[in-house]
Amino acid sequence: MGVLAVEVAQGVHRLTGGVCNFYLLQDGGKLVLVDAGAPGDWNLLLRTLATLGRGLEDLEAVLLTHAHADHTGFAERARSTAGVPVWIHRADAEVAKGATPGNNDGKASSYLLRVEFYRTLLSLARRGATKLIPIREVSTFAHGETLQVPGRPRAVHAPGHTPGSAALLLEGRRVLLSGDVLVTRNPLTGRVGPQIMPSGLNRDTPQALRSLDVLYGIPAQVLLPGHGEPWTQGAAQAARLARAASPS
Ligand SMILES: [Zn+2]
Repeated sequence: MGVLAVEVAQGVHRLTGGVCNFYLLQDGGKLVLVDAGAPGDWNLLLRTLATLGRGLEDLEAVLLTHAHADHTGFAERARSTAGVPVWIHRADAEVAKGATPGNNDGKASSYLLRVEFYRTLLSLARRGATKLIPIREVSTFAHGETLQVPGRPRAVHAPGHTPGSAALLLEGRRVLLSGDVLVTRNPLTGRVGPQIMPSGLNRDTPQALRSLDVLYGIPAQVLLPGHGEPWTQGAAQAARLARAASPS
């Protein structure tokens, strides 16, 4: 397929096999993944590494924004074959290791009349993301922690989509990898623009809305979300618009 990784911010490539984004962060000669796509996106990673003249041996860590199958993707494979640590917020660690998550807010069936809903399901099913592949060992971070990995991202805990949902700030580059804390495309309805994830996919939608408050003080111009296009007009503006867009 013709999908190429695109550099969307200084030293950050966006990879997507459809529906979900994940990012390859370069710092010096070292690489860090932010999220791990869908399980079937492993080859997309290998092709991208080859294009950049790199290999799995340059990968230092996998950072996960939350424990959902379309973000944890091939993380276990990266851990076991490249021997890299997989990091996640401590509130999502047990689910990442295979525990059953709690119930979501809404019913996915309320999206049944949407073409986008089927397109998303099909794309994720084809790439094996209907069920989370447990990660046997994870390292955990907490809010405000600076991770000692290349790029030194700082964790911004913003629960609601999942209890451990987090964004990762690259302060020197003014880039926020926003995961599913704030997205710019709704994978169930196709709506574009800054917004939280649809209620049917959230553990706690009111909490996800409240968590947008944390973004107002984040010194980031570019937001790189788990779903949708990059946002270039600042974290505070994105948070304002996401609040105004209201849940779907
Ligand atoms: Zn998610």
